[in-house]
Amino acid sequence: MMRPGDIIFTKRCPFCGEVIRLSELECPSCRDKIPESGVRKIGGYKCACAFPYTGMFREAVLNYKFYGKHSYGRAFASYMTEAVKARLDGCDFDVVTYVPVYGEKPYRFNHSRTLAKHISRLLCLPCEPLLVKIKRTQKQHSLSVADRRHNVRGAFSSPELSGRRVLVVDDIITTGYTLAECIRTLKHSGAQSVCCVTLCSAKGFCKI
Ligand SMILES: [Zn+2]
Repeated sequence: MMRPGDIIFTKRCPFCGEVIRLSELECPSCRDKIPESGVRKIGGYKCACAFPYTGMFREAVLNYKFYGKHSYGRAFASYMTEAVKARLDGCDFDVVTYVPVYGEKPYRFNHSRTLAKHISRLLCLPCEPLLVKIKRTQKQHSLSVADRRHNVRGAFSSPELSGRRVLVVDDIITTGYTLAECIRTLKHSGAQSVCCVTLCSAKGFCKI
Protein backbone atom coordinates (compact mmCIF):
# COMPACT_ATOMS: atom_id res chain seq x y z
CA MET A 1 0.00 0.00 0.00
CA MET A 2 1.33 3.44 -0.93
CA ARG A 3 1.98 5.94 1.86
CA PRO A 4 1.85 9.72 1.50
CA GLY A 5 5.66 9.97 1.45
CA ASP A 6 5.79 7.53 -1.46
CA ILE A 7 3.77 9.94 -3.55
CA ILE A 8 5.62 13.13 -2.63
CA PHE A 9 9.12 11.62 -2.98
CA THR A 10 8.62 9.46 -6.04
CA LYS A 11 11.07 6.60 -6.34
CA ARG A 12 11.32 4.55 -9.49
CA CYS A 13 12.48 1.05 -10.34
CA PRO A 14 15.93 1.44 -11.97
CA PHE A 15 15.11 -1.25 -14.53
CA CYS A 16 11.66 -0.31 -15.85
CA GLY A 17 10.91 3.15 -14.40
CA GLU A 18 7.78 2.05 -12.53
CA VAL A 19 7.02 3.97 -9.33
CA ILE A 20 8.03 1.87 -6.31
CA ARG A 21 7.83 2.24 -2.54
CA LEU A 22 10.65 4.04 -0.76
CA SER A 23 11.59 0.84 1.04
CA GLU A 24 12.02 -1.11 -2.23
CA LEU A 25 15.00 -1.32 -4.59
CA GLU A 26 13.03 -2.46 -7.63
CA CYS A 27 9.47 -3.38 -8.69
CA PRO A 28 8.20 -6.95 -8.05
CA SER A 29 8.23 -7.77 -11.77
CA CYS A 30 11.91 -6.84 -12.22
CA ARG A 31 12.80 -8.48 -8.91
CA ASP A 32 11.83 -11.83 -10.43
CA LYS A 33 14.34 -11.30 -13.26
CA ILE A 34 17.36 -10.50 -11.08
CA PRO A 35 19.91 -13.31 -11.31
CA GLU A 36 22.36 -14.49 -8.70
CA SER A 37 25.54 -12.47 -8.45
CA GLY A 38 28.80 -14.02 -9.61
CA VAL A 39 32.55 -13.74 -9.48
CA ARG A 40 35.30 -13.31 -12.05
CA LYS A 41 39.01 -13.83 -11.62
CA ILE A 42 41.47 -11.12 -12.61
CA GLY A 43 44.80 -12.89 -12.48
CA GLY A 44 44.61 -14.41 -9.01
CA TYR A 45 42.26 -11.72 -7.70
CA LYS A 46 38.50 -11.92 -7.21
CA CYS A 47 35.94 -9.53 -8.64
CA ALA A 48 32.33 -9.86 -7.49
CA CYS A 49 29.77 -8.91 -10.17
CA ALA A 50 26.13 -8.11 -9.43
CA PHE A 51 24.63 -8.37 -12.94
CA PRO A 52 25.39 -9.40 -16.51
CA TYR A 53 25.83 -6.47 -18.90
CA THR A 54 22.77 -7.39 -20.94
CA GLY A 55 19.13 -6.44 -21.39
CA MET A 56 17.49 -4.43 -18.62
CA PHE A 57 20.71 -4.33 -16.58
CA ARG A 58 22.70 -2.77 -19.42
CA GLU A 59 19.95 -0.25 -20.06
CA ALA A 60 19.78 0.70 -16.36
CA VAL A 61 23.55 1.24 -16.17
CA LEU A 62 23.53 3.39 -19.29
CA ASN A 63 20.69 5.48 -17.84
CA TYR A 64 22.71 5.89 -14.64
CA LYS A 65 25.96 6.83 -16.37
CA PHE A 66 24.82 8.93 -19.29
CA TYR A 67 21.19 9.97 -18.89
CA GLY A 68 21.11 11.66 -15.50
CA LYS A 69 19.60 8.83 -13.45
CA HIS A 70 22.15 9.34 -10.68
CA SER A 71 19.63 8.40 -8.01
CA TYR A 72 19.90 4.77 -9.17
CA GLY A 73 23.37 4.65 -7.61
CA ARG A 74 21.98 3.90 -4.17
CA ALA A 75 20.06 0.83 -5.36
CA PHE A 76 22.98 -0.35 -7.50
CA ALA A 77 25.30 -0.08 -4.50
CA SER A 78 22.94 -2.31 -2.50
CA TYR A 79 23.11 -5.03 -5.16
CA MET A 80 26.90 -4.69 -5.29
CA THR A 81 27.21 -4.90 -1.51
CA GLU A 82 25.17 -8.11 -1.54
CA ALA A 83 27.49 -9.44 -4.27
CA VAL A 84 30.50 -8.61 -2.08
CA LYS A 85 28.99 -10.45 0.88
CA ALA A 86 28.01 -13.48 -1.21
CA ARG A 87 31.04 -13.77 -3.51
CA LEU A 88 33.97 -12.34 -1.54
CA ASP A 89 33.30 -14.38 1.56
CA GLY A 90 36.48 -14.62 3.61
CA CYS A 91 37.97 -11.42 2.18
CA ASP A 92 38.39 -8.56 4.65
CA PHE A 93 38.71 -4.90 3.70
CA ASP A 94 39.89 -1.80 5.54
CA VAL A 95 38.98 0.66 2.86
CA VAL A 96 36.86 1.10 -0.25
CA THR A 97 38.18 2.90 -3.31
CA TYR A 98 37.18 3.30 -6.96
CA VAL A 99 38.48 3.53 -10.49
CA PRO A 100 39.17 7.24 -11.05
CA VAL A 101 38.84 9.31 -14.20
CA TYR A 102 41.59 11.51 -15.59
CA GLY A 103 41.37 15.00 -14.05
CA GLU A 104 39.00 13.80 -11.30
CA LYS A 105 37.06 16.66 -9.67
CA PRO A 106 35.01 16.16 -6.49
CA TYR A 107 32.12 18.19 -7.90
CA ARG A 108 31.97 16.29 -11.21
CA PHE A 109 29.89 13.09 -11.31
CA ASN A 110 32.00 9.94 -11.35
CA HIS A 111 29.65 6.96 -11.43
CA SER A 112 32.19 4.61 -9.80
CA ARG A 113 33.01 7.06 -7.00
CA THR A 114 29.30 7.47 -6.22
CA LEU A 115 28.84 3.68 -6.08
CA ALA A 116 31.95 3.34 -3.87
CA LYS A 117 30.65 5.95 -1.40
CA HIS A 118 27.30 4.18 -1.03
CA ILE A 119 29.01 0.77 -0.71
CA SER A 120 31.42 2.07 1.94
CA ARG A 121 28.48 3.31 4.01
CA LEU A 122 26.74 -0.06 3.71
CA LEU A 123 29.94 -1.88 4.75
CA CYS A 124 30.77 0.69 7.48
CA LEU A 125 34.19 1.36 5.96
CA PRO A 126 35.91 4.54 4.82
CA CYS A 127 35.91 5.46 1.14
CA GLU A 128 39.23 6.98 0.05
CA PRO A 129 40.62 8.09 -3.32
CA LEU A 130 43.56 5.67 -3.32
CA LEU A 131 44.01 5.69 -7.09
CA VAL A 132 44.86 8.68 -9.26
CA LYS A 133 44.68 8.48 -13.02
CA ILE A 134 47.90 10.00 -14.31
CA LYS A 135 47.62 9.13 -17.98
CA ARG A 136 44.92 10.16 -20.40
CA THR A 137 43.75 6.94 -22.05
CA GLN A 138 41.51 6.12 -24.95
CA LYS A 139 38.08 4.60 -24.22
CA GLN A 140 38.71 0.90 -23.70
CA HIS A 141 35.62 -0.11 -25.69
CA SER A 142 36.96 1.79 -28.72
CA LEU A 143 40.06 -0.44 -28.89
CA SER A 144 40.78 -3.96 -29.97
CA VAL A 145 41.25 -6.44 -27.14
CA ALA A 146 44.95 -6.57 -28.00
CA ASP A 147 45.35 -2.80 -27.53
CA ARG A 148 43.39 -2.50 -24.27
CA ARG A 149 46.11 -3.80 -21.98
CA HIS A 150 48.69 -1.43 -23.43
CA ASN A 151 46.23 1.50 -23.23
CA VAL A 152 45.89 1.31 -19.43
CA ARG A 153 49.47 0.32 -18.62
CA GLY A 154 50.93 2.88 -16.18
CA ALA A 155 47.65 4.81 -16.12
CA PHE A 156 47.31 4.97 -12.32
CA SER A 157 49.34 5.90 -9.28
CA SER A 158 48.71 5.28 -5.62
CA PRO A 159 50.14 6.50 -2.27
CA GLU A 160 51.93 4.19 0.18
CA LEU A 161 49.41 1.58 1.35
CA SER A 162 51.44 -0.76 3.52
CA GLY A 163 49.25 -3.46 4.94
CA ARG A 164 45.91 -2.04 3.81
CA ARG A 165 43.19 -4.33 2.46
CA VAL A 166 41.42 -2.66 -0.40
CA LEU A 167 38.07 -3.15 -2.15
CA VAL A 168 38.04 -1.51 -5.60
CA VAL A 169 34.71 -0.44 -7.13
CA ASP A 170 33.97 -0.03 -10.82
CA ASP A 171 30.79 -0.02 -12.88
CA ILE A 172 31.50 -2.57 -15.64
CA ILE A 173 34.17 -5.20 -16.13
CA THR A 174 34.84 -6.18 -19.74
CA THR A 175 38.29 -7.65 -20.40
CA GLY A 176 39.38 -6.80 -16.84
CA TYR A 177 42.51 -4.93 -17.98
CA THR A 178 41.57 -1.67 -16.23
CA LEU A 179 40.96 -3.40 -12.91
CA ALA A 180 44.08 -5.53 -13.40
CA GLU A 181 46.12 -2.34 -13.73
CA CYS A 182 44.46 -0.88 -10.63
CA ILE A 183 45.28 -4.06 -8.69
CA ARG A 184 48.89 -3.99 -9.94
CA THR A 185 49.24 -0.35 -8.85
CA LEU A 186 47.75 -0.93 -5.40
CA LYS A 187 49.87 -4.02 -4.77
CA HIS A 188 52.99 -2.18 -5.93
CA SER A 189 52.18 0.51 -3.32
CA GLY A 190 52.09 -2.11 -0.59
CA ALA A 191 48.43 -3.11 -0.29
CA GLN A 192 48.12 -6.37 1.64
CA SER A 193 45.17 -7.55 -0.42
CA VAL A 194 42.93 -6.28 -3.19
CA CYS A 195 39.45 -7.44 -4.23
CA CYS A 196 37.06 -5.81 -6.66
CA VAL A 197 33.34 -5.41 -7.21
CA THR A 198 31.52 -4.25 -10.30
CA LEU A 199 27.88 -3.64 -11.04
CA CYS A 200 27.99 -5.51 -14.36
CA SER A 201 30.16 -8.01 -16.15
CA ALA A 202 30.28 -7.94 -19.93
CA LYS A 203 31.48 -11.55 -19.93
CA GLY A 204 30.11 -14.60 -18.22
CA PHE A 205 30.83 -15.08 -14.54
CA CYS A 206 30.78 -18.06 -12.22
CA LYS A 207 28.35 -18.62 -9.38
CA ILE A 208 30.95 -20.30 -7.19
ZN1 LIG B 1 10.86 -2.68 -12.65
